[in-house]
Amino acid sequence: MAASPSRFDVLIVGGGIAGASLGAEIAGKMSVLIVEAESHCGYHSTGRSAAFWLESYGGPVVAQLSRASYDFLASPPADFADCSFLRTRGAVHLAKDDWPELPAGGEGRRLTRAPLEALVPGIRGDWTRAVLEPGCADIDVAALHGVFLHQFSRRGGRVRTDSALQKAVRGASGWQVKLTNGESLEAAIIVDAAGAWADSVAAACGVAPLGIAPKRRTMVQLRVGRTGLRDMPLVDDWAGTFYFKAESDRSVWLSPHDEIDTDPCDAAPDEVDVATAIARFESVVDWPVEAVERRWAGLRSFAPDRVPVYGFDPAEPGFFWCAGQGGFGIQTSPAAARLAAAVLLGQTPDAMVAGIDPAPFSPARFA
Ligand SMILES: Cc1cc2nc3c(=O)[nH]c(=O)nc-3n(C[C@H](O)[C@H](O)[C@H](O)COP(=O)(O)OP(=O)(O)OC[C@H]3O[C@@H](n4cnc5c(N)ncnc54)[C@H](O)[C@@H]3O)c2cc1C
Repeated sequence: MAASPSRFDVLIVGGGIAGASLGAEIAGKMSVLIVEAESHCGYHSTGRSAAFWLESYGGPVVAQLSRASYDFLASPPADFADCSFLRTRGAVHLAKDDWPELPAGGEGRRLTRAPLEALVPGIRGDWTRAVLEPGCADIDVAALHGVFLHQFSRRGGRVRTDSALQKAVRGASGWQVKLTNGESLEAAIIVDAAGAWADSVAAACGVAPLGIAPKRRTMVQLRVGRTGLRDMPLVDDWAGTFYFKAESDRSVWLSPHDEIDTDPCDAAPDEVDVATAIARFESVVDWPVEAVERRWAGLRSFAPDRVPVYGFDPAEPGFFWCAGQGGFGIQTSPAAARLAAAVLLGQTPDAMVAGIDPAPFSPARFA
């Protein structure tokens, strides 16, 4: 659909995985502009993830989107990409007392000590319960995000970086939008895909916030005195105090599973959280920690019920929420974008998400 350079059917605020994937779905059907505050898309949460797909993660409502996204990620359609975004490694959930219980429908196998030691050599003796979830896979996040952006552009979508939405006012003909670079735009619909800033963007548009809360998570890359790690499963504590996965033959990505309330910001790791992560890691395996090679932090942003929000604001029908993707925004992105696009366009959802009820994702649930 043709548009003047300053008038669009849809303005998507935020060029992370949420904005890029939804943009790729609706571009070509409407004129769409993504505005991204940073100099490149993916600078915040999308560029800082632990990059895995894990069906049991995020609860049963989220699991519907993760499951529905799997085939697309594993074997994308030919017009999207020519190779898989996934590499299966499995996950071992550890516990000391009760057996980890995966949500209904998920595949999990209890492990006795001998197969556990074979999968996680050097594991300490007090981890007596373990369940293997074989489907866990690494996601090539940079490639996935890049292909969504590429598809968006190929279908006629435009992206402006270094362009933050500053303020928007709704008039008779739609939104009058001001960007921080001084530009003015008009749009019929604003999509809020601003991650940790989702509530701030709503406020700048005169829309009541939903309570999308950013929480900091720390990641550490350790070099360890053990080799042969590359294909090991991801290892986590079912009680939620750490996870780690191999990054190379002798290095791991480790998180203390922290969830620190914070204002939206360019998140940085705190040394206390790095030290906590290492102490917890040393309580799991006997691998000597040789060096901290990298450390970083990112924000995982949650709605009050920890289910993402896709839908028009009940009080402001020109404002569409695409927020609260928490710790699962990458692994759910293909199905979430399809579901959100169907709601935004008022169309019947396509086969990928046909069995998923959009109601639990609607912002109307908070009204
Ligand atoms: C440490 C960590 C590990 C994670 N691990 C996983 C994982 O293994 N698997 C998984 O699926 N998910 C994981 N996640 C979660 C996942 O990264 C997020 O759910 C996802 O990236 C959220 O995408 P987004 O597009 O909503 O946010 P973002 O990527 O943060 O994008 C939002 C964008 O909006 C822009 N913006 C904000 N305000 C404005 C404005 N006013 N104008 C214009 N632009 C604006 C920002 O600059 C930003 O680029 C992890 C997250 C973290 C932090």
